[in-house]
Amino acid sequence: MIDEILKYNKEFVEEKKYEQYKTSKYPDKKIAIITCMDTRLTELLPAALGIRNGDVKIIKNAGGVVSHAFGSVVRSVLVGIFELGIEEVMVIGHTDCGVQHINSDMMIKHMMDRGVDEEKIELIRHCGIDFDTWLEGFDCVESSVKDSVEMLRKHPLIPKDVKISGYVMDSVTGEIHVVEP
Ligand SMILES: [Zn+2]
Repeated sequence: MIDEILKYNKEFVEEKKYEQYKTSKYPDKKIAIITCMDTRLTELLPAALGIRNGDVKIIKNAGGVVSHAFGSVVRSVLVGIFELGIEEVMVIGHTDCGVQHINSDMMIKHMMDRGVDEEKIELIRHCGIDFDTWLEGFDCVESSVKDSVEMLRKHPLIPKDVKISGYVMDSVTGEIHVVEP
């Protein structure tokens, strides 16, 4: 699968297909979007919001959640604000998210099914990693978006003049509705 991608990449560069994407590292719209890595959103989300290459910073993870005040998502948001001119942050969850209803017990079982050593899992737990908090999904996408927005709004390192808002996107039509204005 990756071989095909690498082959395509050679052609892409040779045929100068990159020319239509030329832009700078500074976002034209001064917006950062935190959203899910769901493959249905790869093209749908930018298309549905009228976003073009160079417009916004998109930060993705499983679920589009800000789960840790000092984790990689907040780090990316801070870089965006202080180094790249971000003035507004949108948290965009989506319908039928794969992270909905997952739970840590099930994922740990899947790990063991794939040959991950149970002793190692227990050792990690013993070292203070709370699997329930770390791996848990969410039941309600609206609540998840609200929690992420709240985490950013209360964050001590994010200036109060940065506008933070939350939305849920329909994974089929791309329609968004406001959860946290
Ligand atoms: Zn998702």
